[in-house]
Amino acid sequence: MIERLNSKGEVRQAVAAARREGKRIGFVPTMGALHDGHLALVRAACTRTDVVVVSIFVNPTQFGEGEDFEAYPRRVADDISHLSAEGVEFVFTPSVAEMYPPDSTVTVDPGPLADRWEGEVRPGHFTGVATIVTKLLSIVRPDVAYFGEKDFQQLQIVRALERDLDLGCTIVGLPTVRDAAGLALSSRNAYLTPEERRQALSLASALNAAEQALAWGETDARALETVMREAVGREGAGAVELEYAAVVDAATLEPVERVEASARALVAARVGTTRLIDNCALVPKAVSGA
Ligand code: AMP
Repeated sequence: MIERLNSKGEVRQAVAAARREGKRIGFVPTMGALHDGHLALVRAACTRTDVVVVSIFVNPTQFGEGEDFEAYPRRVADDISHLSAEGVEFVFTPSVAEMYPPDSTVTVDPGPLADRWEGEVRPGHFTGVATIVTKLLSIVRPDVAYFGEKDFQQLQIVRALERDLDLGCTIVGLPTVRDAAGLALSSRNAYLTPEERRQALSLASALNAAEQALAWGETDARALETVMREAVGREGAGAVELEYAAVVDAATLEPVERVEASARALVAARVGTTRLIDNCALVPKAVSGA
């Protein structure tokens, strides 16, 4: 039976009891409105650790002014029944007041990995992410925490956060789960009309086009970015407003000149009023061995 916990104290007690029994603790932080992408993380946690905690918390501090904090989909009862079916032991559903009492003032600086891309378009977003992730890891103290590559910049920031603040847990990143057409699953896809959903596929098409061009021997990063921009223009039918299409070093997230090793393609765009992001690894032939 899944147990719903609303307070930090209850989580600490539940985890401490499991730990006394020698159990390894897995943790999956989410904002809810769970889909198969979230559930892939949950399944990995359930397979690889003994006791799994999933948090559902729409974190206000990672939303900017004019963003969709109020409108963000909330379906906690449905989410809990999915998590129960997966065999999750504990779901942590704190209130905003539980996570941010009125006297809380300290935030966590996400460092230079947050300077570009999402950090630039959404000022303060990664401070909110770094703060809530640090708090959740401090409360749950898991052995392993699972994050999606879907939010690649976030994943790299969380890895740095764990390393630099000595948080003492293993961070595992798992591949992006897509629907049959290739659209990366996202809670925000719920905002898309059927037509926008088709247009949103242009993000995945752009990534595929970059991978294809690389496979044909194009390693110049600016040329690959042009390939991505053109694909969004073509497939997005003029309705997709591209914010960035970038080829970066996977570790530093800085733009590279040439794809030589461990590069990543990142895209972000607005489809109607919905903001979507996607990314993929870019592996040159010499490295992939193809
Ligand atoms: P969110 O609820 O959007 O904060 O996401 C919670 C976790 O699920 C984050 O680690 C995300 O990167 C991950 N996630 C979201 N969408 C996907 C997806 N399509 N595939 C894999 N992981 C995902």
